[in-house]
Amino acid sequence: MGFIAIYARVLGQLKPERWLAIVLALANVAVAGLQFLEPVLFGRVVDVLSGAAGRPPADVWADAIGILGLWVVVGIGGVIANILVSLYADRMAHRNRLAAMARYFEHVLSLPFAFHNAQHSGRLLKIMLQGVDNLFGLWLSFFREHLATAVALFVMLPLSLLMNWRLGLLLIALIVFFAVANAWIVARTDNMQRQAEEYHSQLAGQAGDALGNVQLIQSFVRLSHEARMLHETIRSLLAVQFPVLNWWALLSVLTHAAATITVLGIFMLGTWLHLAGRASVGEIVSFMGFATLLIGRMEQASSFFARMFFQTPALADFFNVLETESTIRDKLGAQPLGRVRGAVEFDKVSFSYDGRRAALQDFSLRVDAGSTVALVGPTGAGKSTSMALLHRMWDPQSGAIRIDGVDIRDVTLESLRRNIGVVFQDNTMFYRSIADNLRVGRQDASDAELAEAARLAEAHDFIERLSDGYNTQVGERGVTLSGGERQRLSIARALLKNPPILILDEATSALDAVTEAKIQRALKSLMAGRTTFVIAHRLSTIRDADLVVVFDRGRAVETGSYGELLARGGTFAKLVATQQAGLLPGTGVRPYLDDPVAGETAPAS
Ligand code: ADP
Repeated sequence: MGFIAIYARVLGQLKPERWLAIVLALANVAVAGLQFLEPVLFGRVVDVLSGAAGRPPADVWADAIGILGLWVVVGIGGVIANILVSLYADRMAHRNRLAAMARYFEHVLSLPFAFHNAQHSGRLLKIMLQGVDNLFGLWLSFFREHLATAVALFVMLPLSLLMNWRLGLLLIALIVFFAVANAWIVARTDNMQRQAEEYHSQLAGQAGDALGNVQLIQSFVRLSHEARMLHETIRSLLAVQFPVLNWWALLSVLTHAAATITVLGIFMLGTWLHLAGRASVGEIVSFMGFATLLIGRMEQASSFFARMFFQTPALADFFNVLETESTIRDKLGAQPLGRVRGAVEFDKVSFSYDGRRAALQDFSLRVDAGSTVALVGPTGAGKSTSMALLHRMWDPQSGAIRIDGVDIRDVTLESLRRNIGVVFQDNTMFYRSIADNLRVGRQDASDAELAEAARLAEAHDFIERLSDGYNTQVGERGVTLSGGERQRLSIARALLKNPPILILDEATSALDAVTEAKIQRALKSLMAGRTTFVIAHRLSTIRDADLVVVFDRGRAVETGSYGELLARGGTFAKLVATQQAGLLPGTGVRPYLDDPVAGETAPAS
């Protein structure tokens, strides 16, 4: 996006308040016009005074009072317009800054997983904060300065030619110099500034990444390494930023010098014209005032271009994110899916993350409503991918997924996801109270309902023991809670959501026997009466399942009940045998069903 396109988009963001914006713009034009009347009036006063000698005092007074009266009117008009602009323009800019932030926030949250996978949240945050700050600054300077500068260029400058074309030409020469010098510096520094912006984004990404992994950094003693990486980025950033600053400093020196030379030029030319009887003292005074005002405006315009130049890449990033279209979105005419019974069908589903390697291939499966399906197989076999497709984190490249016979791409995303509950292995929590975290399941749940769900999830007792009970603040991402506690909270959350279809990612981390038993009981309450998919790591889960699906390298290689698969003596039987063979030698640790080692020992059928 080019400079002008970005500027137009920045102003376009004010469209919802266009009438107020237009009134403010007109008020600003009035302020600018009135400002230019002042030097004219000043010149008139000087002419009246310098011609006063020998005139009757009453005539001189009459002239002076006429001019001063006009001046008072101009002054009052200017004050009123100024109050209007500063009062309403600032409010409008503040309002719209926050509105833009909300728009960005909602948009980014609605973007699919594929987008977030490729972006760091620190970078997205930086783009948002910087983007809305830049919008704010530009809106304010649009109402306060830009229009006044446009009035100066397109109205006052031609008028100055009418007043005295010789003096006017000097001003035009100055403005041409400003424009050429600006364009030249922009051309010289454009690439470097873009690079600098990229380094800024990289810096935000790196810092966000590190802050999100403090524990990892401290336990692996990576502090100095992380700090060094950050310093390296800072050094690279400064290495491209400094030359850019040098060029802009040169521009500032050149334009200042040109402005001073022009004022001197007007004074010299004015003196010569006056001596030759071609200009009155008042005219020359007016012109000097005029030139000073114009030069002020040009300097403002110049600094606007400089600022715009520095901000364009950040604003382009901001608009690019806003323009990113979700690949997963409601089809035209998508109907809401009511509460389903929960029959699920995968019909020859194939999917690849990168378009080359299949994460899931030709996967077919029919699941009756209310039954429990265990998904097993080595790590990376495609279990999570099949579940991600079921709640449309991605869409399959071919094949279809149906719930109660309806293709999930034909219904609204929101209604689909209302029907599916997910309990992740890594249960994430908001940095909010326990009650707030539970209400993610259902916003309008009463306190009694929260407690009931927590009881069923075996979480009530430990919550009650916390210092503030349900109002206890959970640390960022739930770090103040143990893994087992987080898991029970997320089971309670899913109970509150009460979806007919459930996806469970069983924890692989070993829990103590008591916690394990609690979680098993909680899960039983949760699974009752729902179609449940379990990414299974434990034998017990598999034994109780109505159906077991064995994945291997993106394919479902075996499907059937626990007994059937065991009797078949294929991949599954070998997986179970490996696990039942008991402990990994010398460790006391039982291998999980999707342990890569266990998976690889089973020959592909
Ligand atoms: P499982 O759940 O059986 O461990 P997954 O479904 O997570 O397996 O992974 C299947 C394959 O897809 C693996 O090769 C994995 O590396 C790849 N994969 C998983 N998630 C992503 C992702 N977000 N982006 C790219 N590739 C992925």
